[in-house]
Amino acid sequence: MQKFVTKQIAILGSTGSIGRNALRVIETLGPHYQVTALSAHNNVRLLARQAERYKPECVAVTNPDRVESFRDLNPDPDIEILAGPEGLIQIAELEGVDTVITAVVGAAGLPAVLAAARKGKRLAIANKEPLVIAGELLKKETQINGAAILPVDSEHSAVFQALQSGRHEEVERIILTASGGPFRQASAEEFENVTLEQALAHPTWDMGPKITIDSATMMNKALEIIEAHWLFDMPVEKIEVLIHPESIVHSLVEFVDGSVIAQLGEPDMCLPIQYALTYPARVAGIAPRLRLEEMGKLTFEKPDLQMFRALPLAYDVARTGGTAAVVFNAANEAAVEEFLAGRIKFVNIIELIEHCLDKHDVKTTVSLEELLEADAWARREVTSLACSV
Ligand code: MG
Repeated sequence: MQKFVTKQIAILGSTGSIGRNALRVIETLGPHYQVTALSAHNNVRLLARQAERYKPECVAVTNPDRVESFRDLNPDPDIEILAGPEGLIQIAELEGVDTVITAVVGAAGLPAVLAAARKGKRLAIANKEPLVIAGELLKKETQINGAAILPVDSEHSAVFQALQSGRHEEVERIILTASGGPFRQASAEEFENVTLEQALAHPTWDMGPKITIDSATMMNKALEIIEAHWLFDMPVEKIEVLIHPESIVHSLVEFVDGSVIAQLGEPDMCLPIQYALTYPARVAGIAPRLRLEEMGKLTFEKPDLQMFRALPLAYDVARTGGTAAVVFNAANEAAVEEFLAGRIKFVNIIELIEHCLDKHDVKTTVSLEELLEADAWARREVTSLACSV
């Protein structure tokens, strides 16, 4: 009889969209998949409900000011509470945990992701930042310590699945699909005057506000180019972007013989989350079934590189290497925050990113400290400039 070792899972960022879906997936996978640790930054109300339902051994509340509220909401003495950013690292390192789902928005989760890699865990990476800003460092730690990286990002999960049809050296190109966001067909003038409300209304994917804005600027896809470059050890010249508004073909791989292998599915995160947990096995789950006959037609087009300047910029950033990507990402995070707060215009986001990249003095050899320093510099730069636009 086959023995199944129970998987113990930590979710970094369990109250966000990915974290909530991950819990639904784990619940349907049965008793061999256990929730060992959860974390949240501010939403302790939901974290308390999740802790009550899934009975983790510990939770991390990364905002220290919210720890007391969590304790009030969930006084269960069997749940250990870890506080502050350090708490996130501690749950990523927990002895019993073998799989860490990383779904913390932005660069904040990086030290915890690196810590999990150093402990040889399986990393189901849902947020692109760790690979984008510290791809080199993370790949190194993963290899040295026998950790594994499984992509949860839908496009990268698709590429990962398609890549199983051939060998690394047989890949001609990776084609990442993109919905194109809500402004795919906008005129230059409409683009200039995009409101917050318009930018937050994504046509096919239901995601958190930061990623929804990134999808509208196509910064999301720009970051995914760099993510794919590290994840699949592929030069950026071999990575292309194709607009596919229906979001059914999640990405494709073309091999040297001309064969193109694609992965298709409903736009829903449950499947990529589940595959990262059960790989190399496939099991029945809650992902909605694709009915192509109901789709009618699937369309594809080239992206407008003049309108979506983040895309060509991503290739430059990847070729430059070093601290360029951390500045690219941090400037965007800070600019999106300014936009969400109503302090800058939609088009200012990319202008601020370009400004930071122009002004930044790129360092080629990078440590975590240097990465975090460049990250903080870009954020300061954006915040001070945002006051003057
Ligand atoms: Mg994606």
